[in-house]
Amino acid sequence: MIPGSFEYHRPSSLGEAAALLGSLDSDARLLAGGHSLIPMMKLRLAQPSHLIDLASVTELRGIGLDGADVVIGAMTTQHDVIASELLATHAPLLRETAAQIADAQVRYMGTIGGNAANGDPGNDMPALLMTLGATYVLTSASGERRVAARDYYLGVYETAARPSEILAAIRIPVPPRGHGYAYEKLKRKVGDYATAAAAVVLTVAGGKVASCAIGLTNVSDRPLLAKDAAAAVIGTALDKASVAKATAAAEAIAAPAEDGRGSVEYRTKMAGVMTARALARAFARATE
Ligand SMILES: Cc1cc2nc3c(=O)[nH]c(=O)nc-3n(C[C@H](O)[C@H](O)[C@H](O)COP(=O)(O)OP(=O)(O)OC[C@H]3O[C@@H](n4cnc5c(N)ncnc54)[C@H](O)[C@@H]3O)c2cc1C
Repeated sequence: MIPGSFEYHRPSSLGEAAALLGSLDSDARLLAGGHSLIPMMKLRLAQPSHLIDLASVTELRGIGLDGADVVIGAMTTQHDVIASELLATHAPLLRETAAQIADAQVRYMGTIGGNAANGDPGNDMPALLMTLGATYVLTSASGERRVAARDYYLGVYETAARPSEILAAIRIPVPPRGHGYAYEKLKRKVGDYATAAAAVVLTVAGGKVASCAIGLTNVSDRPLLAKDAAAAVIGTALDKASVAKATAAAEAIAAPAEDGRGSVEYRTKMAGVMTARALARAFARATE
């Protein structure tokens, strides 16, 4: 339970952090809230020889509006996401999801950037950010590039980010006024990762679903966008048959591992159940 030795760095600007990361070998790791990385270091599943702590990079914190996007700095904590009035108004699903992560202690330290960048399929933010159509702003010593959340996750702890890149901010297109949203997470107890979870964002016009996106958490080696499930409800009033189709489509792409949370069959079924529940709640919100 004692991490290996490492050299500690504490840059005070994004430029300094990017230069450091670029100049050190690929054994360097960024430290945000530390609530995924430190446990891994204690278990010696991660043994970086350099730790670059982003705690003093204040430009990475904060939530604002930029044109049609909500922009969240990577070092913004999950607690700050929950407390944000701006998010409550413009993207309330972020708050609803952040409130279901771990417990208050973890949320005070854990950051949205660490949660999104980590590549852990158990993390709740990635599927949500894919559902919301978010874009990740990645910064390195050689400049900035943007990657859609939907293209970012390649496998367990495998992402499209290069070792020299820092996730600086997350840009989320503000969903249309009156949209419906829900994050349904099944967990064994407070503080647990999802057995299965589903995020839904939809719009309704004339009593029927006009647009829909569905994301799934912790039922595969990466977060999933359930495109066929979403297509199954578009143009419907969310009748029983279309929900059954969506449920079956979500289950069809789920490929969970068997673990303490349940068998492959159970967790696959729960992906469908969470999808149906999230659809119903999102539809109700959009039509109330
Ligand atoms: C008891 C417990 C229960 C938990 N339950 C849940 C849960 O239910 N749902 C959930 O989603 N999470 C859960 N977590 C994880 C928690 O949300 C973490 O805080 C989060 O996953 C990582 O954020 P962090 O800021 O702590 O990142 P860190 O642990 O500091 O970093 C995580 C990884 O991301 C990299 N990284 C961090 N910031 C950046 C950046 N800006 N750019 C590029 N790479 C970066 C780091 O190098 C590291 O590899 C739990 C954690 C604990 C300890």
